[in-house]
Amino acid sequence: MAPKVKDICNNCNKDVVSNDRALSCSICDKWFHIKCERVPVADYDFLQKSDDSIQWVCKGCKGASQKICKMLTLMHTRQDKIETEVVGLANSLKHCNEKINSVDKNLSQLNENLPKMVSQQISQIIDDKSEEEKREANVIIFGIPETEEGDSKMKDTEFIQGLCSDSLGIDNIAIDEITRLGAKPKKGSGEIQTY
Ligand SMILES: [Zn+2]
Ligand SMILES: [Zn+2]
Repeated sequence: MAPKVKDICNNCNKDVVSNDRALSCSICDKWFHIKCERVPVADYDFLQKSDDSIQWVCKGCKGASQKICKMLTLMHTRQDKIETEVVGLANSLKHCNEKINSVDKNLSQLNENLPKMVSQQISQIIDDKSEEEKREANVIIFGIPETEEGDSKMKDTEFIQGLCSDSLGIDNIAIDEITRLGAKPKKGSGEIQTY
């Protein structure tokens, strides 16, 4: 009885019959005589005894699969790089959003406080100017004797009025305000400021 033809060897194009030592590629499903594919007999025997978990691949498919594996490795490397870049971009974006929120918050606070700040600045300028104008009429007199007990303001006013009257011949001088400058010395005399 003639041996059963399994297929044609993809290498020599001759029939592969039942009693030939031949293997079927698990990728392209084509048959090959082991001598055509230079598979050692020991490997063939091992494959014949093994279960389906061990697959045999012809040289042509092996070369192609190696190329595919290289491409896949390259793609994985590129994918990893892209994923790292995406994570970096996401972090940058998060940082930018936080900055924008912070600037927004500061801007809102500034908008809220600006009228008050401007008004305070204007008040301060007006106060300074008014104080400056007020001080234009100031006179500081040194060497005024210290007053003892009682109303020192009254005594200082009388002293200045007396001084103006006696020394300068000006009677009834108007004094808006009279202030002793600095701490009261224990001995000697202090300074007086009049308006
Ligand atoms: Zn063959
Ligand atoms: Zn194959």
